[in-house]
Amino acid sequence: MTHPLTAPLQAEIARRRDDLIRLTQDLIRIPTLNPPGRNYRQICDYLAARLEASGFTCHLLRAEGAPGDSEAYPRWNLVARREGRRPGECVHFNGHHDVVEVGHGWTRDPFGGELDGDRIYGRGACDMKGGIAASIIAAEAFIALCPDFAGAIEISATADEESGGFGGVAWLAQNGWFDNVQHVLIPEPLHKDRICLGHRGVWWAEVETRGRIAHGSMPFLGDSAIRHMGAVLEEIERTLYPLLAGKRTAMPVIPEGARQSTLNINSIHGGEPEPEPGYTGLPAPCVADRCRIILDRRFLIEEEVGEVKAEVTALLERVKATRPSFEYEVRDLFEVQPSMTDREAPVVQATARAIASVLGAEAAYVVSPGTYDQKHIDRIGRLKNCIAYGPGVLDLAHQPDEWIGVQDMMDSAAVMGLVLAELLA
Ligand SMILES: [Zn+2]
Repeated sequence: MTHPLTAPLQAEIARRRDDLIRLTQDLIRIPTLNPPGRNYRQICDYLAARLEASGFTCHLLRAEGAPGDSEAYPRWNLVARREGRRPGECVHFNGHHDVVEVGHGWTRDPFGGELDGDRIYGRGACDMKGGIAASIIAAEAFIALCPDFAGAIEISATADEESGGFGGVAWLAQNGWFDNVQHVLIPEPLHKDRICLGHRGVWWAEVETRGRIAHGSMPFLGDSAIRHMGAVLEEIERTLYPLLAGKRTAMPVIPEGARQSTLNINSIHGGEPEPEPGYTGLPAPCVADRCRIILDRRFLIEEEVGEVKAEVTALLERVKATRPSFEYEVRDLFEVQPSMTDREAPVVQATARAIASVLGAEAAYVVSPGTYDQKHIDRIGRLKNCIAYGPGVLDLAHQPDEWIGVQDMMDSAAVMGLVLAELLA
């Protein structure tokens, strides 16, 4: 069934096509690199000027004291709110304004915002300045069509999603900025016909094995932490990977390969430090007394983080039972609980109806393999009625020659505008 506002909204958005392109380009041209967190104030000022002209009241908020915040790199956030003419609920669009490093392999200017055919190129084009631009155009088009709407529309642009979101959405949630919000859409690049209900959980840990240093010509006088770690890795291969492969989830995670528990060993280091660049000498002969790995374990809504950690401890204890001098330490680095919004939640239902109206197709429900700011809205803001929905192809995020499609942005802007119509008209 097509919503009666579908065609008028699409026409409003089509009229704003050049504006949408310019807005996306302008955002890409402000290099908000994180780390270290450059130009956050500049992008918030730019968006505040834009949204104030559209009747929004803007709050520029610095997450003072949050991890990463400093005088050199202050963590600035923007919350913009437009009141309706009648009481009602609040729909909040949240986009992170930071982007990851450029990396190698680009054939386009990463901060040029070049338009070529239907594509706009640049770091952050799809993740997620195109999504921010689409949500702004959606709100402006909706307000033009339905000036008498109920409730309120909020648009936030927040810092540091790429480094955990503590100076962004987490800080806003801690300071009550989601207390009067009923619906949240995060326009991350999940594709215009998909509703992302949430994400898997994360546990990062460092595992260290201990040994005893000695001369490399007499290794029997020492105790090699690297050999101990070798035994750990062997045990991970032998028992942990098969165990994780057997843990399947009911969460509709995409891609399919992530529909189970996964483990990545991010790094390994043992023995003497890596030589400094330019060092031309030989290494010194020593038995390694320390070896460390970083584990990146992604877990499912069906798992408890305690049980995830216990698997690793049990594994290390098994190794210890076979190696008399084996000593280890596990240090927690970071953890995030899985989050999954119910399919019956109002924002999910409204978005599904809007996708059907605009695209004539049934929405696909997905869950992200990695986390995003929904975790803070769920855990700190205690708001379950939250999804990620936005234009772009997730695989392009963090890649060279990242781009966003103009037609995709327009289609998803029409969907977001209709969500507002469903919830506030
Ligand atoms: Zn993102």
